[in-house]
Amino acid sequence: MTYKTVLAQHPFGSQHWVGDGFPVRNLFPSNGVSAEVNPFLMLDYAGPTHFPPSHQPRGVDQHPHRGFETVTIAYQGSVDHRDSAGNSGTIHPGDVQWMTAASGIVHEEKHGRDFTAAGGTFELAQLWVNLPAAAKKAPPRYQPITSAQIPSVELAPGAVARVIAGELAGARGPAQTFTPVTLIDLRLAAGSRATLSLPEGHNSGLVLLRGDVTVQGEPLRGEARIALLSPAGQSVELTAAADSLLLLLGGEPINEPVASYGPFVMNTMDEIREAMADYRAGRMGRLS
Ligand code: MN
Repeated sequence: MTYKTVLAQHPFGSQHWVGDGFPVRNLFPSNGVSAEVNPFLMLDYAGPTHFPPSHQPRGVDQHPHRGFETVTIAYQGSVDHRDSAGNSGTIHPGDVQWMTAASGIVHEEKHGRDFTAAGGTFELAQLWVNLPAAAKKAPPRYQPITSAQIPSVELAPGAVARVIAGELAGARGPAQTFTPVTLIDLRLAAGSRATLSLPEGHNSGLVLLRGDVTVQGEPLRGEARIALLSPAGQSVELTAAADSLLLLLGGEPINEPVASYGPFVMNTMDEIREAMADYRAGRMGRLS
């Protein structure tokens, strides 16, 4: 067994609001990290932020996506979602919504009704996963994954991994993906130590949402930081000096050109122009 190495470590880049509901710190690409995390395109970490009770759900009004997937992981608070393909639902803490925009979708993302009325702490992450060219024009797909469907593995005392996608320690994540992707919600209690296996040759990143860990001997502490791991090697060793919340990402790179503009990620600028025209013409559908 060989270990992956830490190639670099980066703080979050931009900090901004998405709509009026999601105060995010962007883990990539606003800090310059992009090719190293292919097939992942973007990661936002919202909160934790306190919201007072309100009558009007905060969030993002309807907007399109084409050419990739949005993966929403709720930690605290909830999100009401509905889209032009007719899907709707509430993402509760511990749940993950894996939405494949593919050929195009229009959706709305708002704080859940109950959360809006009661107020409280809101915390969520949203990851964008690229699609191979052949899948960019596939029909949209919607995977509402509940907390109960996500296998939880105790790797060592105080080290718990929830396998959302891919495989770890004999557990298989429920998310269906178009290319090989590993996504792990990892919680380490202070003093715990764990070794995780990750596929050789995949681009990988260890995202510290908050806490204090040592990864392959290198300290990673604070909030909203990413350590990039080498594709070479099969495992990574972690120790925690404080209770820590992490996301472990791994994926086989998609070696195709990327043309991206706002909510559209395609292979060429012609396809971006086509996406804008299709959206304007209502060909990605509308919300009623
Ligand atoms: Mn969206």
